[in-house]
Formats: sequence, C-alpha cells, structure tokens
Amino acid sequence: MYHKKTVEDEVLALKDVHPGGQVDYLVSGRNFDDFVSLLNGNHIPYQVSTRDIAAELKKEWQSILARGYPHTMVYDKDQFNTREDIEAELDNLASQCADVNLVCSTEYLPGPPLHEGQQLKVFHMTGGQSPRNSILWESLIHAREWLAGATLMNILDKMVKGYGTDDDVTTLIDNYDFHFITIMNPDGYQHTWDDDRLWRKNRRDNEGSACFGVDLNRNYDCNWSEPGASDSPCSETYYGPSPASEPESEAVVNFVTSHTGPAWIMDVSIHTYGKYILVPYGNCTYPSNWLTGLRNVTMSGCAAIEQTFNTDWSCGNSCEVLYEASGISTDWMMETVGMLYAFAPELRGSGFVVDPDQIPLSTEEVWNGLVAMVKAIMVIPSPKHN
Ligand SMILES: [Zn+2]
Repeated sequence: MYHKKTVEDEVLALKDVHPGGQVDYLVSGRNFDDFVSLLNGNHIPYQVSTRDIAAELKKEWQSILARGYPHTMVYDKDQFNTREDIEAELDNLASQCADVNLVCSTEYLPGPPLHEGQQLKVFHMTGGQSPRNSILWESLIHAREWLAGATLMNILDKMVKGYGTDDDVTTLIDNYDFHFITIMNPDGYQHTWDDDRLWRKNRRDNEGSACFGVDLNRNYDCNWSEPGASDSPCSETYYGPSPASEPESEAVVNFVTSHTGPAWIMDVSIHTYGKYILVPYGNCTYPSNWLTGLRNVTMSGCAAIEQTFNTDWSCGNSCEVLYEASGISTDWMMETVGMLYAFAPELRGSGFVVDPDQIPLSTEEVWNGLVAMVKAIMVIPSPKHN
C-alpha cells in the first residue's frame, strides 16, 4: 500500500499528546479547515494561537546568516552550531583534557552508513582508576531539538574545563567514566540546517511511501511497535520496519552492548520541550528499583533544576507524566542493557525554536539537575568495576 499524507500527518504536534493534556499544533493554511473539522468532529476543544512560527524561523535564520553561515561561521557556545562545527568542537575539547589530567578521546561509531551519509560521534572521558561505573549522556535523537544539543555541549565544555577546580565536576569525574553522544541523529540534524528546521526523525527513504524518516526514539527493541508509536511512515512517531532497523539505532546498540570497562549505570537522553524529567517505562509500568532508588534520584534532580531559577517541572514515570511511548531509548537502556537509571529530560522553552539567550540558563539548570542525580546515585550501592 502506498502511504499518502493525511491531514493528521501534515499537522505538526509541537509537543507530544497526552490524555487530558494540552498540545500545540502547527498547521499550514492549506490544512487549516480540514484540521478544524477534525477537531470539531471529535469534540476536541481548541484555541487558535496568534503565534507566528514563520516569523520565529525567519528571525533565527537571519541571526545565523549574520554570524557568517555557511562560510565564515565559527563554533560559539552561546549560539546554536552546525553539525560540522559541533563535531570539530568535540575534538577540540578532547585535545584540552590532558592539561587537566583527564583522558578523553572521540570516535565515530562503526556500523553501516547512515541514510544520508553522516556518522555518530562519541566523546569518552575518564579521570581515574578507582572502581566505578559508566554514564552515557546524549541528545538530538530528535533533530529539531537544538536546545538539547547546545545544553549538552556546554555541559561537556564545563566538565572538561572544570576538572580539578569545580568541586561538582571533580566529584562526578572522580567517580564515573562519561560518554557523550551529542548528536544521536546526525542526518536529521544536518537536515534541520539544510532544509527543514522542524524535522524530527532520521532520513530513511521509506519504501512505498511519500514520507521520509523513522522516529529513532520509537525504533529500539524494547516494547517495539506497541502503543505510543505509529506504523505509518508519515507519522512523526513511525517506529520503522523492524526493531533497531535504523543504522543510528544499530550503532548505539553495538556501542552500548559491546562496551568493556566500567559497567553502565545511567543514561540521560536530553529532549525539548516542556520542563519534564521522564523516567521509564513508557508503557506505564515501573522499573523494579523505582521505590528503592530511581524515584529518589529523579526527585533530587527535579528539585535541583526547579531551584535554579524557581521554575516548575513535572517529573516521574513518562507514561503518567506525559504520554504512552514504546521502543524508546531510555526504556531499552534500563530493560535490555540493565542500566539502573535512565532519564529523558524535556527542557525549557515554548517551542523547538528558542532564542540563544536560553542556552546558558538551560545549561545551568540541567547541570544542577544532573549533578544532584549523580550524587544521589553515588550513595546507593551498585556493582563497580575497574
Ligand atoms: Zn524529543
């Protein structure tokens, strides 16, 4: 069957839907009447916002052009950066590690080429030999969530530059190995710069469909194809032709499962937006350590984020706080890999297009949250290895 786009496929949910909750939809003029009929037909109350997304996109692009894009723009930690500049900055940061007695390296993850030719780059960081665990922090599995990538790059920058001088940085690195994948969806991220700023999925050319892309955060082999994901290639939450079908998923699965060295304990997958910390599992069940550790760690992080700038976040089981989801990376990290802790923060902002002045604020509050979570994990006994 050839999948044609329906009105449901063409409107863009700017925040995922959850029962009883509110969601923003971006609807083109062409689809407006059909979409309104759909809402009326289903007795769904709505308000038409006067927000001009086109103007927000234009303003963002003009500021990027003013920085010299594409030829003379350079990496700027207070701005959003291109895929190429981010990948170069990972090498630059790795080269600074020796100055502070850190051992860092970068590598492109092996595996089949991605659909549009990019590669996943990982940054490794270790500061000691004592028995320890490994932590994975990652972002941009959804391409348009630029603030997530900028926040994680700045947290990495802070850790490289603060080791030995900043107490929190030093405590974290003295106790854990860290691995960062700041662009989990490099084809998609490239596409948000080249073609479509609001692109979410990867760039698979779906056979028999007019629509591109698999939602990489519905493609993992954990409750794959269950409620909370779509079998339609045109959907923003299309789960793909088979579990871990995508080369991005395969690269991450191979990296995580073939990891030798200190055993994994924590995954943080950073998303935007909505001010949430979402915790497995997406099918409304709770991991076995929810009451014996995971819940405390979650709430410690939540409180630390909220206290930074006196904001309100919703933190807890992802299905109860936000929506049902399946095949998601954090569920796979806990259920299949056996990590004891996994979180998906959905950062500040009222859209995917945010002013760069939010980057330092986001970095500060998320850093405080992550420090609180890691310190909470540290006092809970876990098997450690050299
Ligand atoms: Zn996301």
